[in-house]
Amino acid sequence: MKYIVFDMEWNQTYGRERPLPFGRSLTGEIIEIGAVRLSENFKYEDVMKVYVRPRFYRKLHSMVKRLTGITQDVLDDSPDFPEALEIFREFCTDDFVTMTWGDSDMPVLRENIDAWGLPKWEAKNYNLQSIYMKQKGLKNHIALETAALELGIAAENIQYHDAACDAAVTAEISRRIETAKGIEEYVTPLGEFTESDIVGYEKVNGVKDLQKLRGDPRIRFTVCPKCKRPLEAERIIPQSSGKKLARLECADDGKFLLRLRTWRSGDEFNVTKTLYEWNDAVETVYNERLAVADEKKEKFLERVRATGKKPRRRRKKKKPAEAETVQNEEQAVIE
Ligand SMILES: [Zn+2]
Repeated sequence: MKYIVFDMEWNQTYGRERPLPFGRSLTGEIIEIGAVRLSENFKYEDVMKVYVRPRFYRKLHSMVKRLTGITQDVLDDSPDFPEALEIFREFCTDDFVTMTWGDSDMPVLRENIDAWGLPKWEAKNYNLQSIYMKQKGLKNHIALETAALELGIAAENIQYHDAACDAAVTAEISRRIETAKGIEEYVTPLGEFTESDIVGYEKVNGVKDLQKLRGDPRIRFTVCPKCKRPLEAERIIPQSSGKKLARLECADDGKFLLRLRTWRSGDEFNVTKTLYEWNDAVETVYNERLAVADEKKEKFLERVRATGKKPRRRRKKKKPAEAETVQNEEQAVIE
């Protein structure tokens, strides 16, 4: 089995682009795929890089141009996505898994495949960033550049935000940590189910208040991936630090799980919304978290009944651990 370490760059819309095929969405249109193929023993076998001529978001966004150094001329002379994907598929061979740094490449790849109406991408993907974090005992997401520095990977000739370079650095990282072990122990953030259960992905920027997530309609409502009707999150429960879950239900298409990942950006927050198909593994994880949330809510209500008033959100100089618990409880109730 081969390890394919890949990275992609994608173009963003200026907002006035040709419409996508009905019912499809594109967070970004892929303009470059870079990949490294490693043998079963993590030996280098081959590298590839292909630029892609965008079809939906044709004009290269100035920010993407600045970040990646890619120019419009290069893209105009490059193959369309189906041809580029075919080159990538051939590069991958028949027996492989993929690895990426972070969890944003796979959903974008899936969206692009979907926008073109191409066959589904089935291969299993592992997020090397989360393997790295687990092995180094890190709580926060770590940038590729930072991990490379930590491992002493020479940075002089690396142009980050070039798909081939990022893939090369990610591949080298995978050779310097216990990747095979990481894969063996790999658990997706939600337990048993995997990337292949993802049916939708969306990023929301400029969220004001994490305590009132449901107050933001962009969070409260999510479009059903099948019939495009807006589905309402009735309750949002904590999953773990920075992650929340909600169950959505479409009258025609059944249940979905919405996972929210939140992080601070200046005075506001960014939120990624990942939508999963509902299945037994999803249900198990959701029910576990729901039980915890219910228990917290019950404790909170008991306290309200006992004291006759709602505890204040912020208490004066309590022990930090306790203050945090109170806030979490409130949050569970609010949501
Ligand atoms: Zn539906």
